[in-house]
Amino acid sequence: MSRTLKLCAYVFAPLILLITVICIYLDFGNSQKFRNSIWEPKSSNWEVLDEGSSGIWANMNAKYQNDQVIRFYHEGNDATREVLLYAESRNLDIWNTGSRYTDIRLRREVAKEMISMIPNHKVLISNVSMVLANSMSSGQETKNLPPLDFNTLSTMPQEPFSKLYLKYTEEFYKNYQNLEAINSYLRLLASMYSDLCELTSLGTTAEGRSILALRIHGRIPNKDEKKEVIILQGTAHAREWISIPTLCYSAWKLVAQYDSDNRVRKLLDKFEWIIVPVLNVDGYAYTWSEDRFWTKNRQSLKNSNCKGINIDNNWGFGFNGQGNPCDELFGGLEPFEANETFAMFNLISNTLPKEKKSTVGFLDIHSYSQSVLWPYAYSCDLLPADDENFQELAMGLTKVLHQVHGRLYSHQQACIPFDGIHKHYHPGAAIDFAYFNAEVRWPFTIRLRDVGDYGYLLPAREIVPTSREFYAMLLYYGQFISEAAY
Ligand SMILES: [Zn+2]
Repeated sequence: MSRTLKLCAYVFAPLILLITVICIYLDFGNSQKFRNSIWEPKSSNWEVLDEGSSGIWANMNAKYQNDQVIRFYHEGNDATREVLLYAESRNLDIWNTGSRYTDIRLRREVAKEMISMIPNHKVLISNVSMVLANSMSSGQETKNLPPLDFNTLSTMPQEPFSKLYLKYTEEFYKNYQNLEAINSYLRLLASMYSDLCELTSLGTTAEGRSILALRIHGRIPNKDEKKEVIILQGTAHAREWISIPTLCYSAWKLVAQYDSDNRVRKLLDKFEWIIVPVLNVDGYAYTWSEDRFWTKNRQSLKNSNCKGINIDNNWGFGFNGQGNPCDELFGGLEPFEANETFAMFNLISNTLPKEKKSTVGFLDIHSYSQSVLWPYAYSCDLLPADDENFQELAMGLTKVLHQVHGRLYSHQQACIPFDGIHKHYHPGAAIDFAYFNAEVRWPFTIRLRDVGDYGYLLPAREIVPTSREFYAMLLYYGQFISEAAY
């Protein structure tokens, strides 16, 4: 070996080694880089979920095996009247109603009878129990997500804790999750990003469960600073499952991208974001154990054996204390009688003024029909003073929603027009109270995927695409408010 080569070997080799060690150290030390990396599990000790034992199949397969979902088209007011009167007289499960059609879940034999009277129809779901089973599996292996409490998380050493976070996140969005897994994931996010957010309880449901909210504030101290607030609530209606992973996804992205995305950092430094993925906690638990199509909460009612208040009819604007307690749309005897609406009322109306904060944004997330809706829901006869501004923002929101995966979302006022029987009134809607009573400037109802192919049984493979388009929309929403307010 020549002198020069030897010199190279003695001088440069240790230098290269030293540089490599420094690089590895910096890489592992950079927690943000680690947070955003994709972790591939090499071996898994998490069990593959046995779908047969998850409970939902065993209980519900038989229950819905004769059910179909059919869209009945309205041809003139008489046909609309006929469809709705028939559905109401048979106490059928109306999934969605609009000016051109009504979607109804009904038993096969009832469907035959109804089609003979109203021939203009389309079968959306011919076998409800099969589509229900398919909706629960994305085609990817489902892992049983272990329950996590704050004690376990707070005592866990850094590396397994971070790996747990990445793996949980990876598994979480593959399929719909039960309440325990959702709460565990929220605890995990709050622990992983304890400098950016915290998990709090807004109240307790009739069955004693906590209504959890993730309060995301960024790293700018907000004790003295009067940050304005944007509130997002999901699952007021228990069967609208897609709103939960969609809101969890947004919460995750907001905290995970705080250090790497300027746009996100500005939005979190400017506003406090309060995200309530599961408002109707008891109702959601009930959709997993007893009835996949349950809508209301599970509160006991005075003078009735039927349970439950429809949360989106129990707010204080245009409230109607009448109605049949057994009805899906029953909104309670008094406004804010439901524990869930009372908790949200406190959040918007009491807590925030005490803290000298004001709520500027409010999004109530529902499904289905892919639409962006603004006040008033109560009646089409009322036009909000901000109608033009709502239209402008709604157009922007639907444009962004469309850009991500090409899905078309419509935008309009939330009211349902005259249907041939009577003028539709939507009493006690959340966005109406937020806008008119709580003076929230930019309230919207967002109805997520799809437009009726699967309805409430949206397949799990659509969780991530729906979440992505919603998150893009959310950033636009925050930015619009940020610029509009100042
Ligand atoms: Zn809804």
